[in-house]
Amino acid sequence: MIASLGLYIHIPFCAQKCPYCDFNTYAGLDALHDRTVDAICAEMARWREPLSGRVVETVFLGGGTPTVLTPAQLTRIVQQAHDCFTLSATCEFSSEANPGAVDRDKFALLRGLGVNRLSMGVQSFQPDELGFLGRIHDVGDVYRAYDGARAAGFENINLDLIFGLPHQPASHWRDTLSKALALKSEHLSLYSLIVEPETPLHHWVQVGRVDQPDEDEAADLYELAMDELGEAGYIHYEVSNWARMTAGDPAAGTHAAATPAYACRHNLIYWRNQGYLGIGPGAHSHLIAEGDDGPVERRWGNRKPVADYIKRITDGQSVAAFTETIGPRLSMGETMMLGLRLVTEGVPFARFQQRYAVTLAAAFEDELIRLQEWGLIEMNADRVRLTRRGLMVGNQVFAYFLPNE
Ligand code: SF4
Repeated sequence: MIASLGLYIHIPFCAQKCPYCDFNTYAGLDALHDRTVDAICAEMARWREPLSGRVVETVFLGGGTPTVLTPAQLTRIVQQAHDCFTLSATCEFSSEANPGAVDRDKFALLRGLGVNRLSMGVQSFQPDELGFLGRIHDVGDVYRAYDGARAAGFENINLDLIFGLPHQPASHWRDTLSKALALKSEHLSLYSLIVEPETPLHHWVQVGRVDQPDEDEAADLYELAMDELGEAGYIHYEVSNWARMTAGDPAAGTHAAATPAYACRHNLIYWRNQGYLGIGPGAHSHLIAEGDDGPVERRWGNRKPVADYIKRITDGQSVAAFTETIGPRLSMGETMMLGLRLVTEGVPFARFQQRYAVTLAAAFEDELIRLQEWGLIEMNADRVRLTRRGLMVGNQVFAYFLPNE
């Protein structure tokens, strides 16, 4: 059985590049916007036939900042997605939105095009932190954008927040959380600031202009968030993600094994290690097809430079920068690595066995025994998941399941 398919569309443009960001996105390439939209539409058309029998359950318009595109460009992309793929009647259609690059008309346009979930890059409610992060928006823009999104009819909104800035006072983080909670969004994503190589932030740390963020301080802020969001009724369903169970009915703690109604269905496809098609410069794909001897898994990533991507599409060439076939052992390890990120759902034994025709206990006997002894994972009758202690050292737990190569 081939499970849900997600479609990711990467818009590689931002109004300004944030100094901590290592995503494949560029500022100042306005002259390429229109041709990139042409190329993205052409890449989607390439998949019309090969995926004609598949139903797309989720679409995610990400980047970058999709909302820097004009209404006409956004319309072409969304209409092409509808033309090339069979979108399910209950398709979750998300778009990222930068509070500094949206207005009510654009929200109304997106809603009218069938986009039904917004993910807003708020990051902080502290003016000095927004300045440090190089964001183009201020706190007032966040409120204006949020009100505009609600007024346009969006009933499923995520707010992204960043914590763990160098010497960030807990009081500032608590204030940011309480202002975010006051908005009552359906979903919250909290990310710790990572100093990524080859970013301006990395350079600033290297030359001593900025201190390296402290991991222990970030862990304390993470625990603070777990407490505050739990008290406010959000379910901590993934390492960095919280969601409400149902509209207006936060029910923390009463659905320990469930995944909340407002969990991001698109990202659930990634965490459940299912199939997705990535369109656009630098986008990654993971497709699972039925082969004669069972499922065949293939992963690839598109070329990142925008001009290169456009030229290859125009010339009728492949845009893949790399491609690999994923064997069963690696796939099982990745299913564990990704699935354990799902704090409440974990990895259900039945789903694992159905996919790989081997029990999880047989595939990872030693790993499960050891990690359980150390108090990092817990198992009940139907699933394995991280303990709270395991959550704090998740990356070390995940690494146990990957083959040593
Ligand atoms: S707006 Fe988002 S994608 Fe764009 S540069 Fe900033 S962090 Fe990166």
